[in-house]
Amino acid sequence: MHEMSLVQNIIDIVEQEMDRHRVEKLKAIHLAVGRMSAVVPEQLTLCFEILTSQTRLAGTALTIRMVPLTYQCASCQQEFTSEGIAGNCPSCHSENLEMIFGRELKIEFIEVMD
Ligand SMILES: [Zn+2]
Repeated sequence: MHEMSLVQNIIDIVEQEMDRHRVEKLKAIHLAVGRMSAVVPEQLTLCFEILTSQTRLAGTALTIRMVPLTYQCASCQQEFTSEGIAGNCPSCHSENLEMIFGRELKIEFIEVMD
């Protein structure tokens, strides 16, 4: 399960931020996950619960926003989103496409408990 190491990585970053800002408790961690990142959201949540159960992050909500695939056409510069793998540009039908969003797994922001 590669989600375990991904989640551990996220936890490490979050804990560093907490230390830096002297934060004790978090309300929520918001993640952005690209549709092509090969990550299963349910697995992320499960791993997060397992890895944080004995830590100060226990009980923190993990919210996951799925990021659609976004391409830019290298021929006409048109940007467009797609539910799946795109074959060609909707404007000029070029096959010279670059995926600009859709593979990421990142922390968007964290919410501190007040
Ligand atoms: Zn195009």
